[in-house]
Amino acid sequence: MLKRTPLIAGNWKMNKGTAAEATALIGEVLSKSEGISGAEIVVCPPSTVLYTLKGILGGSERVALGAQDVYWKSAGAYTGQLSPEMLADAGVSYVLIGHSERRGRFGVAEPDFTEGILKHFGETDASVNRKAVAALAANLKPVICVGETLSEREEGTTDGVIQAQVEGALDGISTTQMTHIVFAYEPVWAIGTGKTCSSDEADRVCGVIRAALSDLYDAETAGTVRILYGGSMKPDNASELLVQPNIDGGLIGGASLKAGDFIAIAKAAASLPS
Ligand code: PEP
Repeated sequence: MLKRTPLIAGNWKMNKGTAAEATALIGEVLSKSEGISGAEIVVCPPSTVLYTLKGILGGSERVALGAQDVYWKSAGAYTGQLSPEMLADAGVSYVLIGHSERRGRFGVAEPDFTEGILKHFGETDASVNRKAVAALAANLKPVICVGETLSEREEGTTDGVIQAQVEGALDGISTTQMTHIVFAYEPVWAIGTGKTCSSDEADRVCGVIRAALSDLYDAETAGTVRILYGGSMKPDNASELLVQPNIDGGLIGGASLKAGDFIAIAKAAASLPS
């Protein structure tokens, strides 16, 4: 089977969200990525600068725009939310859904604001599913994030947790729509911590995702879906992760804030043997 086109997505999180900061970073990303082909590059900035970046990118074929979240309604009394249609109008083509910094945090009955505790947001598999369905209906490509916490890994429940997150995200999504879905395996304990999952283990869990897709759909469909790895990916560990058979790119947090590092990872992806 042909290797799937790698996708390198930068999640800027709540950084570089002023027009001046975002303009400077995207300018560097654009100039450093000149000449790269063979890998798709996406940046997911804060929503405040989506229109600014849309204007700068001008429909660039090299760098696409992503959002960090979406709501499943088109309009209405949903304070603070952004609809898929609004994001599409702002030039967005990809949207992160179910990032671990949102799962189990917003909206819980007793929020815990301790740094590093995943309790003050409230994304669930059901809300991830609604968001994915709504995003697809507006022609956005969902990047569905899944991953186990450290305690789940230590209890030996990683594979079951991942399978449940994959299945829960895809309720009602057809085989045809699966061509627009991307998954990102992000072990929660490896995000922003400097701890990377070993390339063998990251590949194994991405394989668990692919097997789940094969069971839910069929092997051919599972073989077309891109599965990214995310969690402290940097220029010095990117190649050994990206070369793994089940890893089709990276979701990059910290390293996406430095254009040189981000584009070095994109170049590593673009230079993989096809
Ligand atoms: C992320 O937030 O999706 C992520 C992978 O972050 P980092 O690269 O900083 O670990």
